[in-house]
Amino acid sequence: NNKKLIAGNWKMNGSLAANAALLSALREGVGARARCDIAVAVPAPYLAQVQQLVANSPIALGAQDVSAHESGAYTGEMSAAMLGEFGVRYVLVGHSERRQYHGETDAVVGAKAQRALAAGITPIVCVGETLAEREEGKTEAVVKRQLAAAIHAVSHCVSEIIVAYEPVWAIGTGKTATPEQAQQVHAVLRAQLAAASQRAADIKLLYGGSMNAANAAELLAQPDIDGGLVGGASLKAADFLQIISAAS
Ligand code: 13P
Repeated sequence: NNKKLIAGNWKMNGSLAANAALLSALREGVGARARCDIAVAVPAPYLAQVQQLVANSPIALGAQDVSAHESGAYTGEMSAAMLGEFGVRYVLVGHSERRQYHGETDAVVGAKAQRALAAGITPIVCVGETLAEREEGKTEAVVKRQLAAAIHAVSHCVSEIIVAYEPVWAIGTGKTATPEQAQQVHAVLRAQLAAASQRAADIKLLYGGSMNAANAAELLAQPDIDGGLVGGASLKAADFLQIISAAS
């Protein structure tokens, strides 16, 4: 489908009470039907709660990470099959915070994407350059390397993934990529996907990094931006609803 996708990434935020209030406001604001796809990627302890809170609504459940392993002695990890039991439809893999603070390599990220697909969950593969890499003119090389690893890992299912371009310097900084900067990278990613899949035009490419109610419409109007991965602004119902409207 060519609907846009607006996915909220709550990161390590929320509480039982805050989640209930946020989802209740979102459900009321979205109504029974939405003109774009909507998801919230919540902290693992809240998956069961939020599964109930989004039941019979247009809001899909997402997780923020998944193990690269199938099952077994991997303390602290959660498998794709476990996520599937809680109705998880999307899982972020390779978010820059996981790459930076938890040493996730391109190979690990690829393995996670593959595990998700095998369990019927859509991986949202995150790519993006740091400020230093951008200043050194390495943006294209970095995102292409990151995406190539994911494409390699999922090989025959490339059209089943979602890709999120999140320039690291734009995450949580209030410094959004300009629509032109984002579109330029998205076009590169689209071309790379086209070389691997005949259905590249249908693969959703999300932009993430300080997307908010004020800048969403302009970003989402770019030809290769098919949605947004929203951090901070997804924690406030009014802001998230405005971004959803901008995508509808
Ligand atoms: P912010 O929207 O808070 O910049 O976070 C973006 C992000 O990392 C979403 O995954």
